[in-house]
Amino acid sequence: YTGPLEKVGPCQWKIPRSYREDMRVDGLIFADDTLIEQIRRDQGPEQVANVATLPGIQRASLAMPDIHWGYGFAIGGVAATDPEQGGVISPGGVGYDINCGVRLLRSDLSWDDARPHIKRLVDQLYRDIPTGVGQSGRYSFRPDELSELMSKGSSYVVDRGWGAPRDLEFTEAGGRLDDARPDLVSPRAFARGADQCGTLGSGNHFLEVQVVDRVIDDQAAGVMGLREGMVTLLIHSGSRGLGYQVCDDHLAMFRDAPQKYGFTLPDRQLACAPVLSPEGQSYLGAMRAAANYAWCNRQLLTHQARLVFERIFGESWAALGLDLVYDVAHNIAKFEDHDVGDDLRKSLCVHRKGATRAFPPGHPEIPRKYHEIGQPVIIPGSMGTASWVLAGQAGSMAQSFGSSCHGAGRMMSRTAAIKLADGRRIDKELDAMGIIARARGHKGLAEEQPAAYKDVDQVVEVVDSVGISKKVARLRPVGVIKG
Ligand code: 5GP
Ligand code: MN
Ligand code: MN
Repeated sequence: YTGPLEKVGPCQWKIPRSYREDMRVDGLIFADDTLIEQIRRDQGPEQVANVATLPGIQRASLAMPDIHWGYGFAIGGVAATDPEQGGVISPGGVGYDINCGVRLLRSDLSWDDARPHIKRLVDQLYRDIPTGVGQSGRYSFRPDELSELMSKGSSYVVDRGWGAPRDLEFTEAGGRLDDARPDLVSPRAFARGADQCGTLGSGNHFLEVQVVDRVIDDQAAGVMGLREGMVTLLIHSGSRGLGYQVCDDHLAMFRDAPQKYGFTLPDRQLACAPVLSPEGQSYLGAMRAAANYAWCNRQLLTHQARLVFERIFGESWAALGLDLVYDVAHNIAKFEDHDVGDDLRKSLCVHRKGATRAFPPGHPEIPRKYHEIGQPVIIPGSMGTASWVLAGQAGSMAQSFGSSCHGAGRMMSRTAAIKLADGRRIDKELDAMGIIARARGHKGLAEEQPAAYKDVDQVVEVVDSVGISKKVARLRPVGVIKG
């Protein structure tokens, strides 16, 4: 990217609207001096400018410090549109993996207790939890069951005994978006989803055993049930083949929308339609169904992981304190009330594509337990570095439509990462660092090697310093299973 980036704050970089005639609002990237140099190496910032051209976009086209190039929208992007002003919904602003997200479980196990069993634990997790592209799992749903699952979200699987009611309370949106329309999900998507619920998927998805390395905010950590030296479990997965198919189906449906609704797009990958159009409504209904499927997927992954912990440690998961801290989506579009200036509050369509909701203390949509500290924001780093737990802060409502970053963010493409690995055994390198990694192949691990990602500590420092979420605890990996 060679276009303008004006430093407008210690960690704010503006792409002024004057950069291109088609931009309706400014672009704004949150990053420090080092990260912005990494960010400008790909076309991510140009994509931020592209998104600024979308009909009905409000305030600015935003990007988090973990931004990198993606399909249409950059990964790490946040954009809010106003339906009443012709605002659009764009599948590329959600991502192919609808409601990809993370959930963190805490435990009463100390690392001292768990250490002697870690190898058995990771091996058993790898044996029992299905991984890999297109892999089927141990659960299978008939079409009528799948419809119900997509309407009800997490409560459907919890009601069948695969979890506890408490899990729902600590899942964003209670694990269910209203107005899901499984009837608008194609037969092909149904077929792909039938036996993939409760499977991890490939590549970047993982299940990781961690230890709380450092507590930054004692009070918030205490409320979340996190203490130094305690074992945690982080799960990252989304809507599998079903969500991918929903995205693909609607990208095709949106192809003629610009002509039909009278706007132009700088990039075909930005395919979108007005929120209030039939096409827009169809995508939203199907997207919500896929999002609900993703929450069921993470719930079933949780259930299977809990069974493994029970087997290895010989106690019930409840006795082990394997409670859900929180589950957050990082690829989703939702309607939320936000200020749009002149003391006006409106319901906007907020796209988060590789961005995490970060609602502040007191927000009505977060669990009661977290009212004083803010919503937990869970930031995976990489399998060889730290991950973070943060809490949403008031600055997110003022600056980023209630959003924060979602990870460290890629610094190099998968191809470049494989080249960099050049036959190195990443699993052995991790092992030498005290991290047990299990994956299907060496290629996947090479693509995901820690050096392929930005420095997560630095990324988190940015979102903390601008006041959109504050640091609570740092987690370090001890075992990871990858797709
Ligand atoms: P994405 O959803 O964009 O694929 O990934 C989110 C983030 O997860 C990435 O930006 C990266 O920082 C992080 N990540 C990828 N692989 C791993 C892993 O194995 N363990 C942890 N803790 N984080 C990872
Ligand atoms: Mn994903
Ligand atoms: Mn993800």
